[in-house]
Amino acid sequence: MTTSGPTPLETSPSPDEALERSLKELADIKFALDQAAIVAITDQRGIINYANDKFCQISQYSREELLGQDHRIINSAYHAKEFIRDLWTTIAGGKVWHGEIKNRAKDGTYYWVDTTIVPFLNEEGKPYQYIAIRSDITERKRAEERIREQAALLDQAQDAILVRDLNHNILFWNKGAERIYGWLADEVISKNATVLLATKPVALFEEANRAILEKGEWTGEFRQLRRDGSEIVVESRWTLVRDEQGGPTSILIINTDITEKQRMEAQFLRAQRMESIGTLAGGIAHDLNNVLSPILMAIDMLQLKANDEATRKWLEVLRANASRGADMVRQVLSFARGVSGERVAVQPRHLIKEIVKILRETLPKSIEINFLVPDDLWLISADATQIHQVLMNLCVNARDAMAEGGAISIHAGNEVVDENYARMHVEANPGRFVVISVSDTGPGISQEMQSRIFEPFFTTKEMAKGTGLGLPTALTIVKSHGGFINLYSELHKGSKFSVYLPALDAPGTAAAGALQTDLPMGHGELILVVDDEESIREITRGTLETFGYRVLIASEGTEALALYADHKNEVAVVLTDMMMPFMDGPATIRALQRMNPAVRIVAASGFGTSHYQTDASLEGVEIFLDKPYTAEKLLKALAQILKS
Ligand code: FAD
Repeated sequence: MTTSGPTPLETSPSPDEALERSLKELADIKFALDQAAIVAITDQRGIINYANDKFCQISQYSREELLGQDHRIINSAYHAKEFIRDLWTTIAGGKVWHGEIKNRAKDGTYYWVDTTIVPFLNEEGKPYQYIAIRSDITERKRAEERIREQAALLDQAQDAILVRDLNHNILFWNKGAERIYGWLADEVISKNATVLLATKPVALFEEANRAILEKGEWTGEFRQLRRDGSEIVVESRWTLVRDEQGGPTSILIINTDITEKQRMEAQFLRAQRMESIGTLAGGIAHDLNNVLSPILMAIDMLQLKANDEATRKWLEVLRANASRGADMVRQVLSFARGVSGERVAVQPRHLIKEIVKILRETLPKSIEINFLVPDDLWLISADATQIHQVLMNLCVNARDAMAEGGAISIHAGNEVVDENYARMHVEANPGRFVVISVSDTGPGISQEMQSRIFEPFFTTKEMAKGTGLGLPTALTIVKSHGGFINLYSELHKGSKFSVYLPALDAPGTAAAGALQTDLPMGHGELILVVDDEESIREITRGTLETFGYRVLIASEGTEALALYADHKNEVAVVLTDMMMPFMDGPATIRALQRMNPAVRIVAASGFGTSHYQTDASLEGVEIFLDKPYTAEKLLKALAQILKS
C-alpha cells in the first residue's frame, strides 16, 4: 500500500501546535542554559524572581533567601559607581550588557562572573524583566592577579628581566630593564632586542642562540647599548620557556649590569700589574747597576792610560752613554722602590721659577710659557730634586703633545681639601695642599687613555722617544710625598695635570682638613641634593646641616622629581649631579624646570662642567660646580645663588 500526501513534518502546524512547540523549545533552551550557566531573572528593578541551582551554589544562598531580594545581595562594593551606572543605562535602554563582575558570597568570600544581561521588552519596547547569564571566571581572575603580583615582584629586582620570542622581539620588560637601559616598557614591547641593544660580540650572541635551543639555557657576558648611547657590560642568563607540549615559545633573560664591577676589577688588576712590573723592573735595574758600575770605573781607568786624542774621544762617548744608562736605571729604581729622599721644608715658588727658566731656554719659540704663583704659597715638606723631576716630566709631556706649538701654563695655589672633596676623589685625603698645575693646549687625552697613562711602560710616543716611565715615576714620587695627581683633559682643547702636595703645618694655620668656620651660613633654607653616590650624599648633607641648611636627599632623577613635587614651595635650591644612571642630570633639570620654570639649580659634574655650559637647554642652571668640590666652594655657591 502506498500512501500519498505530505509527510507530518511538511504539514503546517496549527497555531496551538506552534505555540506548544515554541514553549517546548524554550523549555529545552532554559534546561540547557540551567545546566551550563549561572542564571537569574529579575524584574525591571533588579529584584530576583528566578535563581537556578548554580546561582545558589556559587552565591551560597538558598533559593528562598534569594527570591524577592535585590541583586545588591551579592554586591562586593568592588566596582565604581560609573561601572554600575553603565550596566543600568545599557539594559534600561533595552540593550544587552556584557562584562566581568566581582561578587560576594554569603560567607564573605569573593567570586568573579562573566555576565551577560539580556532585557525582555514589552510591546512599548520597555524592559519588564532581565535575565542574567553568568559563568564562573574566578580561577582565571586569580591567575591574572597572581601574574600581576609576580610582575610587580619582578619589577622590584635590580636586574633587567626580559622575555623575548624566538626572533628576539621583546614580550616583557621589567622596571629593572627600564632603569638599566633607559627605555620604558611601552617604548620597547614588540621591538627587536638585538637591534635595540646592539648586542655584541655578534659571534657570542649567535653561540647563545644555538646553545639555548640545544640545551635550554646559556650564561655569558655581552656588551650592549643604553638609550643614551653609552655602552654597558651585562652578565646575561638565558632560559628557554616551553609550552605544555614541550615546544620552545620564548626566552627568559636576566641581565646584571656589571660595568662598574668590571671597571673596579680592571683598576685592581692594573694596580697589581703596576706592582709586579715595579718589582720586576727594580730587580733588573739593580742588576744593571752592577753591570754599569764597573764599566764606568773602567772607563775612568782607561782614560788615565789613553794618550791619543781619538781614543779619549771614543772613551768620552762610552762614558756619556754608560752614564745615560745609569740615569735610566736610577729612574726605574726610583719608580720601582718608591722614593725616600731627604725631606726638607721647600718653597715650591723657587722650584717653579727654576723650571720656567729652563723651559724658556730650551723649548722652541712656538711654545709660549706662562706661570702664575702667589706670594703666600704654603711650604711643603719635600725632596726638591724629586719634585723638580715631577714638574719636568709633566712639562716635557706637555711639550711633546704640542709639536705644532701652543702654550704651557704652570699655576700654583693653596687649597684645603675637605672631606667633601676627598670622597669624590679616590686617592685624596683631607688636608691642606699646595697645588701645582701644568696645563697644555695640545690635543687632549681620551677617557680611555686617561685610565692607562699612569701605567708603567705605557706610552703613546714612538719607541725611541718615550720610556713610558715619566708619569708613573711622577705619580710614585707624588704619592710618596702623601699627595695625589688630578688629571683633567678635553679632546682638542688640552690637558691639565694638577699635583697636590701636602703643605707643611705652620703654626697659626687651621688644622689640616678641619672645616673652616668663617664660611657663609644658611638660614634654614631647604636644599634638595641629588646624587647617585651614597657617600657624597651623606657628606653633603652633613656639611649643609652643619652650616644651617635643611636638606632633602634623592639618589636619582625620578626620586628627585617626586620629592620636588611634594616640597616645591619650600625647596630653595636643587643641587644635582650631572652623571646619574636612569635619569641623568640634564633630564632631571629639564623636568624640574617644567614643574617650576623659576627653580634654582646648581649642577655638579666630575667630567668638567664646561661641556654642559654650552648645552642651550640648561640655560636655567645658575652655577656649575666642578667635582670634586670642597665644602667652601659648595657653601659659597649656595650663598651666591641665595643672595641674588
Ligand atoms: P546603586 O545605587 O544600585 O547603583 C549605582 C547607579 O546605577 C545609580 O546611581 C543609578 O545611576 C544606576 N541604577 C541603579 N539602579 C537602577 C535602576 N533600577 N534603574 C536604572 N538605573 C539604576 N550587581 C552586582 O554587584 N553584581 C551582579 O552580579 C549584578 N547583577 C545584576 C543583574 C541584573 C539582571 C540586574 C538588573 C542588576 C544586577 N546588578 C548586579 C546591579 C545591582 O542591582 C546594583 O545596582 C549594584 O549591585 C550596585 O548597587 P549599589 O547600591 O552599589 O549602587
